[in-house]
Amino acid sequence: MKLQLEDIKKKTEKILEENFNLDELNEMKVKILGKKGELTNILKEMGKVSAEERPIIGQLANKIRDDLNDIFTQKYQEIKNKELEEKLSKETIDVTLPGKEIKKGSIHPVTKTIMEIEEIFIGLGFEIAEGPEIETDFYNFEALNLPKDHPARDMQDSFYITPDVLLRTHTSPVQVRTMLEKKQDLPVKIICPGKVYRRDDDATHSPMFHQVEGLVIDKNIRMSDLKGVLLAFAREMFGPDQKIRLRPSFFPFTEPSAEVDIACVMCGGKGCRTCKQTGWLEILGSGMVHPNVLRYGGYDPEEVTAFAFGMGVERIAMLKYGINDLRLFYENDVRFLNQF
Ligand SMILES: [Zn+2]
Repeated sequence: MKLQLEDIKKKTEKILEENFNLDELNEMKVKILGKKGELTNILKEMGKVSAEERPIIGQLANKIRDDLNDIFTQKYQEIKNKELEEKLSKETIDVTLPGKEIKKGSIHPVTKTIMEIEEIFIGLGFEIAEGPEIETDFYNFEALNLPKDHPARDMQDSFYITPDVLLRTHTSPVQVRTMLEKKQDLPVKIICPGKVYRRDDDATHSPMFHQVEGLVIDKNIRMSDLKGVLLAFAREMFGPDQKIRLRPSFFPFTEPSAEVDIACVMCGGKGCRTCKQTGWLEILGSGMVHPNVLRYGGYDPEEVTAFAFGMGVERIAMLKYGINDLRLFYENDVRFLNQF
């Protein structure tokens, strides 16, 4: 039996010299080491071995099995290496061919502007709030001091889904939603960026555009706080020497209300065609939040005061990047988008 075991080892060692492929090698392995293989057959005779010899033969058998496994592993590696070498010798790579160009996208100028605005206000301690684009009449108008028969509703020609549900015409409803959520908590310091919808379509109006709304509620909030925040914003956005100017205006949800202008980015305030020779460009509307709006939001206007502002993102982007037609933002022309 000892001889049989040594024979099988010798026989197996020969495969190292053979020119086998992987299939042939596997076949051979099953034939020798498999459940019904030659080694198993030899070991079946173990019962005939005398008791003294059995441990010695057993040890030998284990060693032979290990050796056989090693031989097969060695041969397997050899075959694999050979295959790889053959493959490499056949393949040629032309290093002079140009590489495949990976086309990189760029961030849309509107998105980029929103990100910049958010970053500035986060730096000023604001949080970002969001709300639904489909709103109820209550949040979009009523709670913002615009009752059903209010003439200012005409300024916002709206897309109605039902008489009570519409696509929001501004991001201001998020103000009301936030106030109700905060349950009189102080301070409230949020901006709400998002899409808004109005029935307008020309070179400076689009039926869908983006706004960023801001709201600050606390004790002793004053108009000068509003001016300070907006000046800080204008300087971050348009340059450290930027100036702003507040002009009296009217919005139903603020009292007093102010339009905010920045010094013209084209002429620096000297007067040009873009600013119609005034030296100023309007960038947003703002004011002290109307007591009625605070009440709708659950706050007591005797206890707290608030300011709010709203800006059109496209308008900011047009001024910042010198874009003259709003529609360019939505045409998806790669030549335009690539510039950002
Ligand atoms: Zn100008």
